[in-house]
Amino acid sequence: MKRALITGITGQDGPYLAQLLLHKGYKVFGTYRRVSTPNFWRLQDLGIVKQVTLIPADLSDMSSLLEAVTISDPQEIYNLAAQSFVGSSFDQPLFTTDIDASGSTRFLEIIRHLKKDIRFYQASTSELYGASSEIPQHEQTPMIPNSPYAAAKLHSFHMCRIYRHSYGIQASNGILFNHESPLRGLEFVTRKITNSVAKIKLGLQKNLPLGNLSPQRDWGYAPEYVKAMWLMMQQPKADDYIIATGETHAVSEFAQEAFAAVGLNWKDYVLSDKRLHRPLDVHQLCGSPQKAETVLGWKPKVTFNELVKIMVAADLKRWKMFLDGKAFPWDAPNHSHEMDIIARNVTKDAYREAGYKKKGLKERFF
Ligand code: NDP
Ligand code: GDP
Repeated sequence: MKRALITGITGQDGPYLAQLLLHKGYKVFGTYRRVSTPNFWRLQDLGIVKQVTLIPADLSDMSSLLEAVTISDPQEIYNLAAQSFVGSSFDQPLFTTDIDASGSTRFLEIIRHLKKDIRFYQASTSELYGASSEIPQHEQTPMIPNSPYAAAKLHSFHMCRIYRHSYGIQASNGILFNHESPLRGLEFVTRKITNSVAKIKLGLQKNLPLGNLSPQRDWGYAPEYVKAMWLMMQQPKADDYIIATGETHAVSEFAQEAFAAVGLNWKDYVLSDKRLHRPLDVHQLCGSPQKAETVLGWKPKVTFNELVKIMVAADLKRWKMFLDGKAFPWDAPNHSHEMDIIARNVTKDAYREAGYKKKGLKERFF
């Protein structure tokens, strides 16, 4: 029986990947962080929480990673754990670097010293292309990160390549473009929109503040993308692959489709809030999945419109069940209102209270 270790099994991709591997007959181990409130809702949602072996570990703690690898004794490690939200990486650049850059190197070192034939999947990202103007992006497109998140992930991307060439370690980078699902975190724009659309439709929310509506993303469906991760690990030689749909849509288009799915006009509800703009954004992402198609035989099926409808339907169903008094694993009811918690909002007030009106700060915060 094959054994796999998945880091970040409590996130969006981890449970879908675990489900796929279980289906393929793997023994699946997953790392989770000890937190004051357990967050296994996604594994529970897929009904697989009892089928995976959970190991407490943190990417900042080498000894916990060593223990996770020793206990699981895997043939394949899927390193999905990350501080994965670009917005937060501007607020916590050093933490993001420790987890998203050094975290993967910790694993590569463990593999180098412990067992060189463990195959390693690194969750790389389309954000690596950041300021690149080439459309569509392919594996040779120059990588110009536009956020601390992307810079940290670029470090990991190169470390995989370097360990592959230096030590013959089977480390592959999956350069995945944005992929979404009903299990997506509520801070990401797609799920923020579909959750709000459901609440607005049911009279639980009045409007939806968003940041920059013009950036374009290549949005795919997460359950299809985890299959590509597995396919990469089955190749005779490690390599780097873009996983994308080849289509790109603006944030405004996502909002328009999501509201239309429940018969509403997005323009009646979406507000533009400058506080939700990023210090630096990525304007357009659109990936070419050609190499993945040719080498891995991987092709996306779910279209943009289908993806939006899947997510809206899931959130609407959840809020209706909630109103009917049903209990089920879920994240949204306990989620704080974003405008109450964003760091830039707090910082703005703090600066204002201190009477701080320096030009640069004024431009950013006021
Ligand atoms: P999520 O944010 O949903 O999940 C991230 C996971 O990492 C969670 O399980 C989280 O644990 C865990 N984690 C965070 N910090 C640490 C840490 N210090 N130690 C151990 N675990 C930690 O991300 P996704 O599932 O969406 O994405 C999976 C990976 O793919 C990430 O690396 C992401 O950056 C990358 N990626 C994602 C894309 C997407 O569109 N989804 C696109 C391209 C790349 P906890 O639940 O406790 O917070
Ligand atoms: P990212 O591509 O990994 O940064 O995924 P996100 O879903 O966080 O953001 C996608 C795009 O939506 C970015 O260009 C954001 O600036 C833009 N965006 C606009 N409004 C919002 C918002 O309210 N929340 C988030 N998360 N993104 C927003």
